[in-house]
Amino acid sequence: MTTEKIEIDTLVVGAGQAGVAMSEHLSALGVPHLVLERNRIAEKWRTGRWDSLVANGPVWHDRFPGMEFDELDPDAFASKERVADYFEAYAKKFNAPVRTGVEVRSVNRNEDRPGFTIETSEGVIEANRVVAATGPFQRPVIPPIAPTDSSVQQMHSAEYRNPAQLPEGAVLVVGAGSSGVQIADELQRAGKQVYLSVGAHDRPPRAYRNRDFCWWLGVLGEWDAEIMQPGKEHVTIAVSGAHGGQTIDFRALAHQGMKLVGLTKGFTDGVATFESNLAENLARGDESYLALLDAADAYIARNGLDLPEEPEARNRLPDPECVSNPILQLDLAEAGVTSIIWATGFAVDYNWLKVNAFDASGKPQHQRGVSTEPGIYFVGLPWLSRRGSSFIWGVWHDAKHIAGHIATQRQYLDYRDAEQRQS
Ligand SMILES: Cc1cc2nc3c(=O)[nH]c(=O)nc-3n(C[C@H](O)[C@H](O)[C@H](O)COP(=O)(O)OP(=O)(O)OC[C@H]3O[C@@H](n4cnc5c(N)ncnc54)[C@H](O)[C@@H]3O)c2cc1C
Repeated sequence: MTTEKIEIDTLVVGAGQAGVAMSEHLSALGVPHLVLERNRIAEKWRTGRWDSLVANGPVWHDRFPGMEFDELDPDAFASKERVADYFEAYAKKFNAPVRTGVEVRSVNRNEDRPGFTIETSEGVIEANRVVAATGPFQRPVIPPIAPTDSSVQQMHSAEYRNPAQLPEGAVLVVGAGSSGVQIADELQRAGKQVYLSVGAHDRPPRAYRNRDFCWWLGVLGEWDAEIMQPGKEHVTIAVSGAHGGQTIDFRALAHQGMKLVGLTKGFTDGVATFESNLAENLARGDESYLALLDAADAYIARNGLDLPEEPEARNRLPDPECVSNPILQLDLAEAGVTSIIWATGFAVDYNWLKVNAFDASGKPQHQRGVSTEPGIYFVGLPWLSRRGSSFIWGVWHDAKHIAGHIATQRQYLDYRDAEQRQS
């Protein structure tokens, strides 16, 4: 990009899957737009996650409607690089106007005229509208309970790449959502003694009666759920496509040697303390697992489907020692723990968006991505319109709605009354 001042109808910030989807829909509706990406297209998939990551959903599901993952078996789980290649190819397919290597530094509403002034690393842009597509997971969050002494190496899951990064010794992984449990499993397979701190979670079966859980959530309408069930705000989902896609089973991991502990409470003088809620958290995960099997069985019966029975899916491994006799305190040095990985989630960061579109806690205020500040849009956020919103298959639909809103606004502004039409 040169340093000349650019004027454009709509500026999209970020070229991950959300920015690419936005661009596709804006292009289809003839909305002049530009996508600015500070790195490369789908950079988070390419370099922002651990090396062995594969998509959580099979390729028939985790994609946009307009293109398939040609060479892959539809039931396979694409590697993160393959997902990044997919979005790059997708953007090429419709000549998405993406400029990479350009960071948006600030967006301010104009005072004396419509639209926004955008400062970028390569000059100034004037736009009537700005779509923030900067991702659902922007700023890694490590809770304040993290020990402050430097006797153990600490990193967030966003910095973890592979087992070779960690020093010799045991590791405590805090958080057992999709990231935490996959990282813990990888470290255990690499020969490490792993302690995994397990909080409240949902634990869907990877597949049941020959259908992946993505299929079940689709036909049961769960991806489209518009409101998070009360009490589930802090519940993570433990699911993975690793090793061809297997159901996460915490008890199985413990029988293989992993030490499960409850929610991490804190650290004092090198001793970690844990809540006594491990059994309760596992039971809650089991409940969500069984609820999905029940709903699937009911769906099959109601629709007379011919899918093979799978009674063994209801078998449960016996509780391992660390569940029946929970570890509530762990002296890190005595246990040989030399590192902690915080798989404790992310927050959004909209410091650059200097407009009136946030509540007192900094949370974007919007309806299905249409912000309370006219001309500002958000796409890709968790639960933007439904459960699927931050995922590959969900963001495409939200982007379509937002592009439609933008096109409609443009129509209003194009209106000319009779007098204006004559002149
Ligand atoms: C470990 C992990 C695994 C996941 N696995 C799956 C999965 O298997 N299936 C699935 O459907 N979802 C998955 N997700 C969820 C979701 O699909 C991804 O987080 C996805 O990357 C979100 O896409 P996005 O475009 O909304 O945001 P991002 O991919 O984060 O893209 C945002 C882009 O904005 C750019 N950007 C940010 N700020 C600026 C700025 N100021 N100026 C210019 N550019 C900027 C960034 O460089 C980035 O490229 C996973 C998430 C994580 C964390």
